[in-house]
Amino acid sequence: MSESKGKSQPLSGYGEFELINQYFRRALPGNQKDVTGIGDDCAILPLYENSYQLVTTDMLLEETHFIKNSIQAEDLGYKALAVNFSDISAMGGTPTGIFLSLGLPENLQLNWLNNFMNGFFELCEKYKVPLLGGDTTRSPRGLIINVMVLGKVKKKNVKRRTGSRSGDKICVTEYLGDSAAGLSLLTDGHGKKLNNRESQNLIQRHQRPPHSLEEGQWLGQNNAVHSMIDISDGIGSDLIHLIEKSDLGIDIHLDQLPVSEALVHLSKTTGNEIYEYAVNGGEDYGLLITVDPSVCNDVKKSFESTFGKPLFEIGEVTKEHTGVNYTEKGINRKFEGKGFNHFN
Ligand code: ADP
Ligand code: MG
Repeated sequence: MSESKGKSQPLSGYGEFELINQYFRRALPGNQKDVTGIGDDCAILPLYENSYQLVTTDMLLEETHFIKNSIQAEDLGYKALAVNFSDISAMGGTPTGIFLSLGLPENLQLNWLNNFMNGFFELCEKYKVPLLGGDTTRSPRGLIINVMVLGKVKKKNVKRRTGSRSGDKICVTEYLGDSAAGLSLLTDGHGKKLNNRESQNLIQRHQRPPHSLEEGQWLGQNNAVHSMIDISDGIGSDLIHLIEKSDLGIDIHLDQLPVSEALVHLSKTTGNEIYEYAVNGGEDYGLLITVDPSVCNDVKKSFESTFGKPLFEIGEVTKEHTGVNYTEKGINRKFEGKGFNHFN
């Protein structure tokens, strides 16, 4: 692939991760052995003797990530911050500061901006995290929202995407597929096929995704949790990150994936397979973890008694390097888990 590096060719057809690996990922300059750069949910830098600084940033573009008329400004403000908090959660960390940069089209209404910031500050205030700075520019076309969040984590509690061991159980903290289902209700007009409460639940999950701050910190303190990532692109894509650059594989039991009643109902009425939403649908958020199998049942019990909701076991890490395999009721299924990826 490297011979294509300087070629004049469009990047469509390239995967987002290929681009990152080929163009952005280089060896860190100098002696920075205590620094982790590209490749995890957050960058990790030394802070104090016993803790790390975490840094994450995410961008939301009008038309790519949201259609302005189909999301309330408050919800978009909340979501822009929640998805960044989610990356701090995925390291087991606590957010400490926020930077917000906006590209604003000239015709944007001030009350829209006011409502956007109300949603944004709702989450800042709940977790007492200050907005420390940012940048504001005029955008020639569409809204551009970039949020950066700083966080901290005790060195002993940090969880990385790497760290899975053969035999580990794989668990998730939230139902899967609801966000993609909510998006399809907004864009494909499938909403009429569900009752109002079900539609609202799915749409809410898309517009106000979970940030998982409490769950992430709790799981970070648990030594039995070996690796953690947040589910931003669908488990079909995010699972691959857990075994990248390792000799491990993953078995996923499709029939054990946690899915909401509303999603079951939607999939029946549309005829779209439920696993398409649950495996390949983006923006579910919630956390994906691997856990020491000898204590996984205890972790699940304790998680449920702390949070009043289950920790769902969906598969295990295997010692063969065979990628991610999907089974249904014990039978192998050719299921293409691809998740969401920009550019292809
Ligand atoms: P997440 O979904 O957790 O936000 P991504 O999949 O977007 O993570 O990114 C994967 C990794 O690549 C992260 O470490 C991120 O910081 C890094 N990355 C993405 N885009 C760039 C870029 N343009 N320059 C440098 N690093 C990047
Ligand atoms: Mg992430």
